[in-house]
Amino acid sequence: MEGDCIFCKIAKGEVNSEIIYENDNFFSIFDIHPKTDGHSLVISKKHFENALDMPSSLGAELLDCIKNTALKVMKDRNAEGFNILNNNFEAAGQVVNHVHFHILPRKKGDGVSVVG
Ligand code: 5GP
Ligand code: ZN
Repeated sequence: MEGDCIFCKIAKGEVNSEIIYENDNFFSIFDIHPKTDGHSLVISKKHFENALDMPSSLGAELLDCIKNTALKVMKDRNAEGFNILNNNFEAAGQVVNHVHFHILPRKKGDGVSVVG
């Protein structure tokens, strides 16, 4: 439900969040339960349920937000790499039904498992 959607509330400024980076159609924030130091989320400003629901024409802007978010958090946290993770549908671990891409900064030997 769009009205109850936490990411719609954040996108509209109804819930306060520190914005890492934004462009016309996407913004990024830190995940409330970080799996790695600097774990952040790239979120669409409009409500799309998942990646299949999102127009392909937004691909370039999505990648722009992913790249700029990853560059900033990697630099700030001295990370050496990052994973991009996008869960679609409950079976694949999607909990918030508003499309988002996890950016997980990584360090050599951190032993983090990023799936799930
Ligand atoms: P999913 O499992 O749907 O791919 O991931 C949802 C992510 O959103 C989780 O990692 C969870 O910690 C994060 N999350 C849920 N609610 C909030 C919130 O209100 N604020 C922030 N910053 N992250 C949230
Ligand atoms: Zn939403």
